[in-house]
Amino acid sequence: MLTLRGAGGASPAPTSARRGRSLSDLGLIKDGALLVRDGVIAAAGTRAEVEKLPEARGAEKLDLGGRVALPGFVDSHTHLVHAASRAEEYELKIAGASYEEIARKGGGILNSVKKLRAATAEELKKRVKAALKQFAAHGTTLIEAKSGYGLDVASELKILKLHKELAAEQPLEIASTFLGAHAVPEEYRKKKDGAERYIKLMEENLLPEIAESKLAEFCDVFCDRGAFSVAQAKRVLQAGRQWGLAPRMHAEQLSRTGAAQLAMLLRAASCDHLEQVNKKDIQAFGKSETAATLLPGCDFHLGLKKYAPARALIEAGAIVALATDYNPGTSPTLSMPMILSLACTQLRMTPAEAIAAATINGAYALRREKRVGSLEVGKQADIAVFEVADYREIPYYFGVNHCWMTLKRGRVIHAPKEYPT
Ligand SMILES: [Zn+2]
Repeated sequence: MLTLRGAGGASPAPTSARRGRSLSDLGLIKDGALLVRDGVIAAAGTRAEVEKLPEARGAEKLDLGGRVALPGFVDSHTHLVHAASRAEEYELKIAGASYEEIARKGGGILNSVKKLRAATAEELKKRVKAALKQFAAHGTTLIEAKSGYGLDVASELKILKLHKELAAEQPLEIASTFLGAHAVPEEYRKKKDGAERYIKLMEENLLPEIAESKLAEFCDVFCDRGAFSVAQAKRVLQAGRQWGLAPRMHAEQLSRTGAAQLAMLLRAASCDHLEQVNKKDIQAFGKSETAATLLPGCDFHLGLKKYAPARALIEAGAIVALATDYNPGTSPTLSMPMILSLACTQLRMTPAEAIAAATINGAYALRREKRVGSLEVGKQADIAVFEVADYREIPYYFGVNHCWMTLKRGRVIHAPKEYPT
């Protein structure tokens, strides 16, 4: 059992984000066991220790048969709600068209916007519910979900309301993010000062409604070449903060713009992508409370050679997290085990570092590290169980899902067919 418990092994321990060497400390307990009460971990230790507890004697027993158990994955960056894949662009990319060339021709994000605006909430919900089952089947128990394929008042609200409804209707927890600043919508591109006018729409018509109806917890901006500038991003994130939404950012993916420095200045919860960061940025992350979330699925899907400098970030002491960036354009995967494989082979992270980045540091990136991300007393019993003999086999067997069972708040939400739930 991988507990990811706080340093020193004391339990309960003050859990915090992992930096540097502590990223490798998985708190492994051989023949481990947990006692769960009302969805919360009441005891953690070896099986012998836990079975001795008076309360354990009357408890219902779930035998995991010696498999590897770890905290459920926290996928801290997804574009959950979208209407369709962009398989048609996949072939263009393989033939050599860049992501930005496709976007300039009306493909990319705007292609997904057209499809989302045309889809009903019911159609979207059906598609997303199927995806959420797949997230759970791959060991994920908490996901962040961004809007950003609506880009008008009605469509952005349609997505954010779906986040809220889905959070109530199925077992996975959803942290909702408003990403109105994903792209400038088509209808504003032809106007003079279109981007500024669209930002005004977000400030005056979207953010008040989102705050009033409690539809999002975070505000995100795609700050990059061809998207929003650093000055525009600052304006959007400050407006979001005024309405109680904590900032997070898409930064330094296609070009270095200075977006990561802005994220740290604004004390964003997380700054994501970071393929193009420079040495100064890396050093700054080492001292920052802002998580550096890496999304290697994007580079893999786009066939790019330049991945984020994970080793330098870890060595500088940054709080490195990993996420899928599940989206139809650049990373159509919801598999955290696959992301772990990419983190190991492409980012040169060790299996232990990758697991910590995908659990406790993902929880930190969503400001939930006190509640989830490790298997410790007082935390939610969110558990992923893998049919492997050694935790290193989770990333090692790339492209194959060995998740055997997933539990959310102590309840089985994914299990093998033969297992009665
Ligand atoms: Zn993204």
